[in-house]
Amino acid sequence: MEQKLLEIQNLTKVYTLGSVISRIHITAVDNVCFDVKPAEIFALAGESGCGKTTTAKIVLGFEEATSGTILHNGKVEDRKQKAWRTEGIQAIFQDPFATFNPLKTVDSYFFDTVRNFRLTENRRTAIEIINQKLHAVGLSYEEFAGRYPNEFSGGQLQRISIARALMTNPRLLIADEPVSMVDASLRMAIVNLFKTLRDDLGVSVLYITHDLATAYYVCDRIAIMFRGNIVEMGTVEQVLMQPRHPYTRLLRESIPEADPHKRWQTTVNLSELEHEEYLRVGCKFAGRCPNVMEICKRQVPADITIDDVLVKCHLYSESPQAEPAAAGAHR
Ligand code: SF4
Repeated sequence: MEQKLLEIQNLTKVYTLGSVISRIHITAVDNVCFDVKPAEIFALAGESGCGKTTTAKIVLGFEEATSGTILHNGKVEDRKQKAWRTEGIQAIFQDPFATFNPLKTVDSYFFDTVRNFRLTENRRTAIEIINQKLHAVGLSYEEFAGRYPNEFSGGQLQRISIARALMTNPRLLIADEPVSMVDASLRMAIVNLFKTLRDDLGVSVLYITHDLATAYYVCDRIAIMFRGNIVEMGTVEQVLMQPRHPYTRLLRESIPEADPHKRWQTTVNLSELEHEEYLRVGCKFAGRCPNVMEICKRQVPADITIDDVLVKCHLYSESPQAEPAAAGAHR
């Protein structure tokens, strides 16, 4: 049987917004299912407000799911035993400068981890462990000892935050837009690092991104999210080179930049369009879809598997009512 490091089953997160008299419910994550295999880089991709970061926060334990199941190595997570979350999973944030206190030297974070996880009581051994993790990201202890965050470039600091995440020998890294605040010239060095960690250390990465170019370059499989739903999922070759879902096709052409000031938002702040799309009956993409049909406005499309690619779209439905009305629909 195929091994799954992380398995997400029917994950749902509903937020209640507004006042008592005008209360609405937004399903930010809607019955989402996917898995991450050992030594695999899996992308959750989509524009801002699609539900990808909320999904990541739930996996990390920063948010409670409304319903659904998360399995680690085939076992349902035990909320009382958070060891897998704290040691087995580590997070890489978008802004490396927000990860470190500007008044603390970066090495102090590594020594804190050595102490908190009781890795050793011997300082020389601690330095060896830290050096080993820094080497994995192309740095050395001498380069960073005693220095403050502002003494590093964004790219170097992101490497340091990845090295810090590796201190507990995690099986899975959850990286939320890890290169969006790094200089374009250094982005490939960071994404290459994920490949090296996968190939040399067997680390899996859940790569949260709006950037399909780096996702194509670094990931094995990808799930495209739109307003809480996975609308297409398969290998990056299948999904990005032969996109079936109209939203994936649109996304390939243009996608808004990630907000560089965003970290892990704890409040839901939706634009008018997002609001409207989240509350739409039927397919949530119907308002923008060039292939929209009558059925799309009243019925939620089912998940259909074609050549191992999951697609959530009436264009691929068996239903006779689902014949494409617009020219240009690809099957
Ligand atoms: Fe477009 Fe209809 Fe498919 Fe939604 S279900 S993406 S509206 S064709």
